[in-house]
Amino acid sequence: MKLILLGAPGAGKGTQAERLCKELNVPTISTGNILRAAIKNGTPTGLKAKSFMDAGRLVPDDVIIGIITERLAEADCRDGYILDGVPRTIAQAEAMEKAGITFDAVISIEIADETIMDRMSGRRVCESCGASYHLVAVPPKQEGVCDKCGGKLVQRKDDEPETVKARLEVYHRETEPLKDFYAKRGLLRPVENQPSVEETSRAILRALGR
Ligand code: AMP
Repeated sequence: MKLILLGAPGAGKGTQAERLCKELNVPTISTGNILRAAIKNGTPTGLKAKSFMDAGRLVPDDVIIGIITERLAEADCRDGYILDGVPRTIAQAEAMEKAGITFDAVISIEIADETIMDRMSGRRVCESCGASYHLVAVPPKQEGVCDKCGGKLVQRKDDEPETVKARLEVYHRETEPLKDFYAKRGLLRPVENQPSVEETSRAILRALGR
């Protein structure tokens, strides 16, 4: 299964991708997680990406296209993948198409901006493995500690309200046109955000005919 998860920042793409990859037995590729790891490790890509990310802006397409084509060429992606947070622009989608990267479906998680603004303050991520949590919806077993690797849970710098607003604007302007792009290719499956993580997972699986 080759999937794209589309949706605004805070729509729950990361959480759903982590659940889906177990169900479908394919890896999740998150460009956000790859970039945060690059920043942490002080690589040239990380240095280039940091100022864009801190400001809630998109990292330039050429950087993202390089990261994603390289990652999808690795052996674990042979039988499928779930892309979380990429493509985010028409240019990225076109570049992936040109590179022969194909998809079976594009799930778009639909959620109101107001719900996202309310939700973002509770989001936490593991600074070691990138796993996502929410203080109310997906709490860790032990406060501040990652269930998966024992790493420290932190609030992302770009989850502050002003930055979230900027990221939502960027989403509507740059990323939402992808819905039309993939609808034209017969791949788009819109899924309404549900009151719980489990219900949204079920809605996604239904949209995939499972
Ligand atoms: P995310 O974890 O997916 O919310 O991504 C965090 C930040 O990383 C975004 O606000 C962008 O600055 C950058 N980023 C992640 N994926 C992409 C992408 N496909 N294109 C451009 N920037 C990206």
